[in-house]
Amino acid sequence: GKRSQRGSVVLFSREHEDQIRALGTIEQALRTADLERELSLSFQPILDVRAGRVVCFEALARWNSPTLGLVPPDRFIPIAERSGSIGDITRVLLAQALACLKTWPRDIGISFNLSAYDICAAEGAMRLIAAVNASGVDPRRVDFEITETAMAFDFNQARRTVGALKALGCKISLDDFGTGYSSLSYVHTLPLDRVKVDRSFVANIENDEVSHKIVRTIVGLCDDMNLECIVEGVETPNQFAIVQGMHCEMAQGYLFSKPMPAAEVSAYLARRPER
Ligand code: C2E
Ligand code: CA
Ligand code: CA
Ligand code: CA
Repeated sequence: GKRSQRGSVVLFSREHEDQIRALGTIEQALRTADLERELSLSFQPILDVRAGRVVCFEALARWNSPTLGLVPPDRFIPIAERSGSIGDITRVLLAQALACLKTWPRDIGISFNLSAYDICAAEGAMRLIAAVNASGVDPRRVDFEITETAMAFDFNQARRTVGALKALGCKISLDDFGTGYSSLSYVHTLPLDRVKVDRSFVANIENDEVSHKIVRTIVGLCDDMNLECIVEGVETPNQFAIVQGMHCEMAQGYLFSKPMPAAEVSAYLARRPER
């Protein structure tokens, strides 16, 4: 490593080189990946806070690469977006998600994460609509999660995409709410159904007064605007008690369940008392 002015060793070069090499490796492995075989989804339940029942499951991408092993989605999705394979990844994952949804009880929905390409390219949006139509599932059971970051590339196209998905009957959730710069204008301009409070606020809700106020403010805003509010990242009974006191509609987090493979969803639903 290099020496900084104060004489301490800075681990810049070596670590940075390793990082760049790792990015190259992921991009390379993605290019040759058999997406249908290597990609799968994990499902995490989202619960109605008052009734305690499962409303839907969020589909979370998992990539098991024969050369790299399990690569987490927040590592490979951004690389796939830059290298152009994200369109294929979304296509494969959405087909899997819709096929799973068909095997679940009809009162349970699915939440699917969209990337910038899906939202900001007209072709990406058309593929989503075609996939939902071809699956034959009730579009009202499908909720697409969008983020401000993903919309930033082309907001006008993003708005058209959201409008088209809504016209089809799908729901739209604004994900990671509170982490961006212009959250309130998105809430104002887009026909949203749900807002997901970023889990970084919930993580500090017990000890940090500001985080507590932020969550309370977002829940209140959603209530005023008739949006359903989902609090993400609930890990402890105490965090859940605080969130329940705020009258938010839905909650998600390790307290209820970690994401599970598709094969475990039916058993999970069967052992819940209310079903
Ligand atoms: P996200 O959409 O905000 O998804 C929630 C993440 O929080 C998931 O991580 C989930 O496993 C994790 N999580 C859930 N409950 C808790 C909790 O109580 N505590 C903590 N510490 N974490 C919790 P995961 O599965 O690693 O996904 C990371 C991100 O990758 C997602 O964040 C999303 O931005 C992206 N992603 C995942 N699947 C897809 C996909 O199919 N398409 C696209 N475009 N992005 C995806
Ligand atoms: Ca999400
Ligand atoms: Ca989120
Ligand atoms: Ca409400």
